[in-house]
Amino acid sequence: MVPLADRKSKRINDSQCFALAILCRGTVQGVGFRPFIYNLAKELDLSGWVLNSTRGLEVHVEGPSDKLEVFVRRIKEEPPRLARISSMEVEKADWCGYMDFCIRRSTGEEETDVLVPPDTAVCSDCIKEVFDYTDRHYLYPFTNCTNCGPRFTIVRDFPYDRSKTTMSLFPMCDECREEYNNPADRRFHAQPVACPRCGPRVILTDSTGQEIAGDWRDHFFHFIKEGKIVGIKGLGGFHLSCDAHHQETVALLRERKGRPAKPLAVMARDLDTVKKYCRVSEQEEKLLSGVEAPIVVLDRLDFCALPPNLAPGLKTLGVMLPYTPLHLLLFNEEVDLLVMTSGNPSGLPLEKDNREAVERLGGIADYFIMHNRDIENRTDDSVLRVAGGTVRFNRRSRGYVPRPVEIPMDPDFPAVVLGAGGEMKNSFCLVKQDGSAYPSQYMGEIDTLEAMENYRDSLDKFERFLEVKPEIVGYDMHPGYNSSKLAKEIPETEKFAVQHHHGHMAAVMAENMLNEPVIGVILDGTGYGLDGNIWGCEFLAGDYLDFTRHAHLSYIPLIGGERAVKNPWLVSLAYLIKYFGEKEGLSLAHKFLGNNGEISSAARILSSGINCPLASSTGRLFDAVSALLGVCRKTTYEGQPAIQLGELATGVTGEDYGSMLVSASKKPLVLSPQCIFRGLLRDMDKGEPIEKMSTKFHNSLINTIADTVQVISGETGLKKVVFSGGTFHNEYLAAESQGLLGERGFEVYTHKQLPTNDGGICLGQAAVAYWRWHKDVSVNTL
Ligand SMILES: [Zn+2]
Ligand SMILES: [Zn+2]
Ligand SMILES: [Zn+2]
Repeated sequence: MVPLADRKSKRINDSQCFALAILCRGTVQGVGFRPFIYNLAKELDLSGWVLNSTRGLEVHVEGPSDKLEVFVRRIKEEPPRLARISSMEVEKADWCGYMDFCIRRSTGEEETDVLVPPDTAVCSDCIKEVFDYTDRHYLYPFTNCTNCGPRFTIVRDFPYDRSKTTMSLFPMCDECREEYNNPADRRFHAQPVACPRCGPRVILTDSTGQEIAGDWRDHFFHFIKEGKIVGIKGLGGFHLSCDAHHQETVALLRERKGRPAKPLAVMARDLDTVKKYCRVSEQEEKLLSGVEAPIVVLDRLDFCALPPNLAPGLKTLGVMLPYTPLHLLLFNEEVDLLVMTSGNPSGLPLEKDNREAVERLGGIADYFIMHNRDIENRTDDSVLRVAGGTVRFNRRSRGYVPRPVEIPMDPDFPAVVLGAGGEMKNSFCLVKQDGSAYPSQYMGEIDTLEAMENYRDSLDKFERFLEVKPEIVGYDMHPGYNSSKLAKEIPETEKFAVQHHHGHMAAVMAENMLNEPVIGVILDGTGYGLDGNIWGCEFLAGDYLDFTRHAHLSYIPLIGGERAVKNPWLVSLAYLIKYFGEKEGLSLAHKFLGNNGEISSAARILSSGINCPLASSTGRLFDAVSALLGVCRKTTYEGQPAIQLGELATGVTGEDYGSMLVSASKKPLVLSPQCIFRGLLRDMDKGEPIEKMSTKFHNSLINTIADTVQVISGETGLKKVVFSGGTFHNEYLAAESQGLLGERGFEVYTHKQLPTNDGGICLGQAAVAYWRWHKDVSVNTL
């Protein structure tokens, strides 16, 4: 062995040599940072070492100053794709005269502090290999590396390691093992590495699960062109797919799935294809091709040649790019756009297992593309929309879960908290003692046994992945919510019932790290109110502990309860009778609502008052207006009438139908939409364009929001306002109300990391429960 002094001597001659100590913090471990540093140092002929420590990623590097400069710059400018450097300290260090660059063993137990990572879209290096016929991964649908691939969806247990994933059934071949063990390789310690020799394989079957021999891709392209529907097993579950250009096939898929109008997402071959059909801003382009690869809701180009039944009545289209190598292989010269809708029978969770998929989707799909790598954690695609330059989540799931969100907590009183979520669009969240909240993947509707089982199973996994058990639980006070029933079953926890809209309000506060009283404007469809009525247009003031209901929309009876939610014309009818009396109301209904046979019997139910629960819901007000204008009289998916009406609010006019805040004498203030219905009927008689009427309705609501907030602020002195609730997906309403309140000197906070719909309330429930526990407050407990 050459003595150290001698080895040093070689470099000592170079008087330009320096040494640097670098410390990178953030998401720097388990993301391929060490091989990246190693290769960069090798490329620049620098010496030293890199290691993972409890402090972060530490580097000692030596060489000529110009090269060191390049080294530091390139770490900053081109770090590995999944790394997020939150801070980077660079200091001069003592020169040791290393001859080589090496990866040192980590101090502390290797990788154990690495959380289960989110799934990540296929990277450019892997894409290159998939299409390089000289590469051993050529056309291999499961290739991945440190920078990309399945993660959360395949993890069974913690800590994250191949043996605890569904890849444990596939022992690595020699070549894969060599890459896995080689610090210089892109696949160094990539847990799911696989190749055609050792990894999973694709299985093509007919609708009964019988395997079909031959090249699966040839078959697939043939089926697609023939107008067939194919179930495809992806990362987090099955999709149902067909050619997005075939209007009849899209119609057939809708018919078989029992989904008449809800927009269908598509997957495009590449970005150029997306741009052929939709307007894509730079920000949207980044989202589409980002590591999370969500569905991005884009504006369709005018004169877009796609079948209108992809998204009936809407000007938008949800688009995503291929995010696994398998997806890349679903496209060729002729196939450029595929419908990719979640593969679940109506109302049930996404299918993830081969056998169940054949059983439950065999009546919808003509063929299946499956594989023998199991999906452990069912995860739907995430859905985002860029509105006014801000990214908004419609659904936060694949690619984002299980990434945490910070919320306010007192470090002196740490606790593990569960927010159980709502009933529709459910997701729950677990908050660790340091205030990092982990929202779960999208659970959807919790109203079937299957969904409840999925919920229990996922909660159990989250507890294991995060190595925590909840001590405090916050849940919706609705007595019928299954999420609340499940929450109440959790043993050895302190439980807090949280009013639905208070949960919404607290969620925006928590996400924005607010811990002070605010005014909450919470607009949505349904939430159980303190008086037992259905709330949904709520102006609250308060903090995490409690709230006061300062104003709400006047109550309207929902004829037939749930039936009115499905048939918005029933809500119109109730409003017409309320504001114009029975006789005139009925005659207006016969004139405008087009349900002549049913109107009289509905009016009888209304006058009997039986099964007509009272609602102060913004969603129902939108329904009523939407039905009256003939935009949507039957709801086939949640929010349909409001979404279609919202698309018609184009800002063509600054006029409105007046403010709903008519009297400020009664407490709480009751907002009356009478002026809106009178105005609408006048404009309908005049034959005004529908865009104008929709805009005027929206303007009324916007002015009402601003006026009401101002009155509440006058009484409370509060200047911070939070917006939450599903209605705020309405871009015109959200942007204009925020703008108007801004002009009047208010600071408005909205959701940026979680959906504004019920998918976000788990965070608020957790915050409310924690702070009530912290302050030893118990209110509204049911
Ligand atoms: Zn890759
Ligand atoms: Zn292999
Ligand atoms: Zn809600």
